[in-house]
Amino acid sequence: MSFEIPGVLWRRDPQAAEVPLVFDSPHSGSSYPEDFCFCCPFEVLRTAEDSFVDELYSAAPALGATLIGAVFPRSYLDANRAVNDIDAALIDGMWPSPLAPSHKTRSGLGLVRRVVRPGIPIYERKLSVDEIRGRLERCHTPYHRVLDEACQRAHRKFGSVWHVNCHSMPSQRSAKSSKKGGHCADFVLGDRDGTTCEPEFTAFVARELRARGYTVRINEVYKGVEIVKRQGRPAAHRHSLQIEVDRALYMDQKTLEKSAAFDQLRADITGLIEALKGFASARLEERRVENVV
Ligand SMILES: [Zn+2]
Repeated sequence: MSFEIPGVLWRRDPQAAEVPLVFDSPHSGSSYPEDFCFCCPFEVLRTAEDSFVDELYSAAPALGATLIGAVFPRSYLDANRAVNDIDAALIDGMWPSPLAPSHKTRSGLGLVRRVVRPGIPIYERKLSVDEIRGRLERCHTPYHRVLDEACQRAHRKFGSVWHVNCHSMPSQRSAKSSKKGGHCADFVLGDRDGTTCEPEFTAFVARELRARGYTVRINEVYKGVEIVKRQGRPAAHRHSLQIEVDRALYMDQKTLEKSAAFDQLRADITGLIEALKGFASARLEERRVENVV
């Protein structure tokens, strides 16, 4: 069975024997709501999307996992931010509860973005309290509810769940960044410094990706944000890991079109999901033996 909230999200359920794996792509949505009312150029706004990330992981349901994707764009409302991570300067009026703007919000990249990237504002006005509240109720609340239900369901059935929060990152490969000594990796894994999943999960994913020829960094620049923070409770056998992949590996960052290398990356990610099935089943077996002993 699958499920959809039009304009908000979809959930694709396992099409084979279910495994305790849940994947979600919160930033690949590209359906721009009519009430967005942005003022920046559309093609620039679209560069905020994690384009095609849902497609990179689309083999998950056929392999027995659940896959969830946002339909709304991340520049409209970012499901990977806390509900109080709001910039007071963006609001026309007083927000009814205390705000806790993060460093991301201070640079304009909070729950409701002020800029596409530094120097490119999204609005030429402030947003009303009702406007922001509406976005939260329509997009943020159901996204987290559906993801939480999927992880809880798998956890109830298997006793453990491994969740992967899927993203892509703008490439750091430009001459400018490398001159600055900026980081440069094909994948960055984030478990908020070892707090959102068991270390074996992060290590396994890193090993699998490196075995396929990719460079991997862990908790550098991208440590994981709200989604892995909410889902990750390793002591309760709920493991959550963020994976960022360099966009230059699968798309043209100017035209936002897939590159010829897309299919290879998708095949490698499919291989990773298959390997994760083996990992999850081995971990469940280890726990079963520990409990018997
Ligand atoms: Zn993202």
